[in-house]
Amino acid sequence: MRIAQHQAELIGQTDLLRIDSLSELTGCNIYLKCEFQNPGGSIKDRAALQMVKDAVERGELKPGMTIVEGTAGNTGIGLALVAKSFGMQMLAVMPNDQAKEKERMIELHGAKLMTVDPCPFANPNHFYHRAKKVAEQHKDHWWANQFENTSNAKAHYLNTGPEIWQQLSGKVDILVSAAGTGGTIAGNSQYLKEQNPNVQVWLVDPDGSGIYQYLKTGEYKNHGSSITEGIGIMRLVENFRGAKVDRAINLPDLDLIAISRFVKHKDGIVLGSSSALNVAGAVFAALQAGPGKNVVTFACDLGERSASKLYNPEYLQHKGLLDYPKRIDELMARYQSDAMRQRIVHCSGQ
Ligand code: PMP
Repeated sequence: MRIAQHQAELIGQTDLLRIDSLSELTGCNIYLKCEFQNPGGSIKDRAALQMVKDAVERGELKPGMTIVEGTAGNTGIGLALVAKSFGMQMLAVMPNDQAKEKERMIELHGAKLMTVDPCPFANPNHFYHRAKKVAEQHKDHWWANQFENTSNAKAHYLNTGPEIWQQLSGKVDILVSAAGTGGTIAGNSQYLKEQNPNVQVWLVDPDGSGIYQYLKTGEYKNHGSSITEGIGIMRLVENFRGAKVDRAINLPDLDLIAISRFVKHKDGIVLGSSSALNVAGAVFAALQAGPGKNVVTFACDLGERSASKLYNPEYLQHKGLLDYPKRIDELMARYQSDAMRQRIVHCSGQ
C-alpha cells in the first residue's frame, strides 16, 4: 500500500489476475497484468512517466512547458496526468476515429485536444507528423515521440518486467503481447529473457496491422482492418526494434470479440479490445505449449475505453462482426488445428 504525493507516483506496481475460466480450459495458468489499475486507466501511463522523467533529467523539459504527442488516446491520457503532476501542460493530437471515451478523458485531465482526419503515415496530416510539427513551431513545447523515444520500452524494462518476474517468483513460461509502439513487448521481453532465456515471447497482431507479415517476410503488408485501438502498425519503429519475439500470430476481430464475451460472462472481467486480443493470443499460445505453463499477458485497459465499439452491438453489426464464435470450444478446436499451427511465424527470439 502506498501513500503518494502526486498521481504519477501511483503508476506501476499493478496486480496479476489469474483468469480462472481460460486457465481451466487450457490447463495453463493464464495471468493478466492489470494495467488498467494505473491512474490513467492504461498501460501507457508507464511510458508517459518514463518519457517525461528522462526528458526532465536531460534538461529538455521543464515545469511550465507543454508536452505534445500524437496518440490513439491512452498515451495522451497518461501524459495529461503526468503533466499535471509535474506542473506542465499537455496537447494531444488524435485521429478522430478513435473511441470518444478517450477524447473525453484527455479533456477531463485538463489537456488540450487536437483531432485530425485519419490518413496513411506518408500523409503530412497524419497525427504523428502533426504533433511533431506543432512542437517544432513552439519553443516551449516538447514532443514525446512514443514510437521512437525508447524511454517508452525502458519503462517496461525497469518496472513491468521486474514486477512480473517477482510476482511469479521467476516462474514465467510464456509472455504474450500485441504491439502499438512495441514499448510493452520490447521492454518486457528484454527483461524477462535476461532473467531466463527460455521465456517464450509471442506477438499477437490484429488484422490491418503489418507486424505479423513483417516478421514473416521482412515487409510491412496488411489485410483487412480491426476495431482494436492503440495496436498494430505499418512501419518499423525504434521501440518495436527492441522486441525479442519467438513466435507471432495474427488473429481476427471475431476471435477477440468471442473471448471478450466469454471472459465477461465467466470471470466478470470487461476487457478492452487490445486486451481481448492479448487474451486470445494467450489462449492460442497456451494450447500450442500444452498444459502446466504460466502464461502472462496484459489487460492494457478496460472495456470502458471500448464501450462504443467492442461492446456496442449496432457498431459490430455495422462492421459485420456479430457472427463471432459463440462457443469457446469451437474457438479452441480451431486454435489446435493444423491450419492455424501452420500460420505461426517462428522468429529468432533475438
Ligand atoms: N493497448 C492499448 C489499449 C494501447 O493504448 C496501447 C498503446 N498504443 C497498446 C495496447 C500498445 O502498447 P505499446 O505501445 O507498448 O506497444
